[in-house]
Amino acid sequence: MVSRVIPVDPFDLVIFGGTGDLARRKILPGLFRRFNSGQMPEEARIIGAARSDMGREAFQDMIRKAVEEFGGPHDPEALTEFVGRLDYVAVDAMGDGGWEDLKGKLRAGVVRAFYFSVGPSLFGALAERLRGFGLADDDSRVVVEKPFGHDLASARALNVTLREHFHEEQIYRIDHYLGKETVQNLMAVRFGNMLFEPLWNAQYVDHIQITVAETVDVGGRGGYYDKAGAMRDMVQNHLMQLLCLIAMEPPARFEPDSVRDEKLKVIRALDPVDYHQIVRGQYEADDSQPGYRAHVDNQRSTTESFVAMKLAISNWRWAGTPFYLRTGKKLRARASEIAVVFKDAPHSIFGPEAGTHRNVLTIRLQPNEGMTLGVTIKEPGPGGMRLIDVPLDMSFADALGPDAEDVPDAYERLIMDVIRGNQTLFMRGDEVEAAWAWTDPIIEGWTARGDVPKPYDAGSSGPEDALMLMHKDELKVARYPGLRAGRLTGRPMARTPAQASREEEA
Ligand code: NAP
Repeated sequence: MVSRVIPVDPFDLVIFGGTGDLARRKILPGLFRRFNSGQMPEEARIIGAARSDMGREAFQDMIRKAVEEFGGPHDPEALTEFVGRLDYVAVDAMGDGGWEDLKGKLRAGVVRAFYFSVGPSLFGALAERLRGFGLADDDSRVVVEKPFGHDLASARALNVTLREHFHEEQIYRIDHYLGKETVQNLMAVRFGNMLFEPLWNAQYVDHIQITVAETVDVGGRGGYYDKAGAMRDMVQNHLMQLLCLIAMEPPARFEPDSVRDEKLKVIRALDPVDYHQIVRGQYEADDSQPGYRAHVDNQRSTTESFVAMKLAISNWRWAGTPFYLRTGKKLRARASEIAVVFKDAPHSIFGPEAGTHRNVLTIRLQPNEGMTLGVTIKEPGPGGMRLIDVPLDMSFADALGPDAEDVPDAYERLIMDVIRGNQTLFMRGDEVEAAWAWTDPIIEGWTARGDVPKPYDAGSSGPEDALMLMHKDELKVARYPGLRAGRLTGRPMARTPAQASREEEA
């Protein structure tokens, strides 16, 4: 069932920050899976680069251990062959040593890509040295990680710095949510079927909910997170991208700029958000676990670990349809999903006792990627014409069977797109800036008002006020996985170890 693997062109991929957490947990295990699937040609080479003084073999050992730990089940022989493709060079992004060594390892006539898996403060220095030492030319590609700035001014400055050395067509800004199978399926479902698109507008859609709920706390990222918060860490990028894909007009072609032009129009059509329509939260300590403030080691922190908001898109398609976004840490269930809730039928021929029923299309990003369409049917049996809602469920794991294991995870798919030179699933500079231009006034408003997030219990659905946001609009979302009257009810499903490790997205 999984489509045929077509090898990409031969490449040299340099990973700056090749010894870091992201490289070891995500990038290199992902590349190993692409190698294992036959997508990486014989001539592909990967070079780790960081300041640590280590030889090629020590790096290969480090990556072997990382793949064993984070890469899921694997064939040890294949892993040995894969690490044989790895090389390492010690370079300091801020210094001038090591660059000639690195240049000596790069080959002519193959795709050349540089992955900046380092802090954003090093992007400029790396870009400058790649050009200055002649490692990159007009065909080379650079991949940059999030966070892409912390406000509009810093994102603009980053864009200016990168564009001093590279054209926009060479810059691949990663948002790994765009690499998820279901996210791309969202476009396939919307624009590949006649069924949904005629209904995909304010006339038929009551409202849309986008939820990215995590059960984990801020983990070892407390220092970074406390300066960012859920708004910068999740809403400005991941949730905004999901919103764009769900709300955009059909692009003329499935091509990078056609798709990104349409996404940009959605962001630009967003109304400013009234602060009454936003709820911020911070998780509290429970019997066994410290709370947010202890985790970030800042007892006076006013950073949000949860945010919920009601948005409006002012255009012909969506005027009058609210979009509810929410995301947070330490919540009851781990669930990333989008629920498109259609309106009630205009008239019930079954009378008031049949109750109100709504179709809900639920698109699950994790866990257990797939889609569910809730349809109303007659309750089986002799009790007269009573109606119930049942899900038509399409879990990819069920639909694809054992092949589901071979569906690439977000990082590996996106890196292969870099090698292919396909920017469709990467954020363009103007998109990132537009998202910050919408986000900044919200954050500035909190600062100006001295806003303090509402406390919520760890393992709950977030602050009560967030539920009230939806209840005020008398919204009902009943009997569907994950969402019930605005509450998180999704239960983690049984997963294979490989799925589990892939789902733990960074
Ligand atoms: P990390 O674990 O701190 O690793 C940083 C890497 O950069 C190390 O390999 C480090 O090695 C190298 N490095 C630091 N300073 C350097 C310099 N001056 N020159 C060359 N190399 C240098 O960080 P990370 O978690 O991997 O994150 C990397 C980037 O990805 C960050 O921008 C982060 O925000 C982003 N990101 C990370 C995750 C995640 O899950 N980890 C998720 C999304 C985005 P040396 O110390 O040996 O130089």
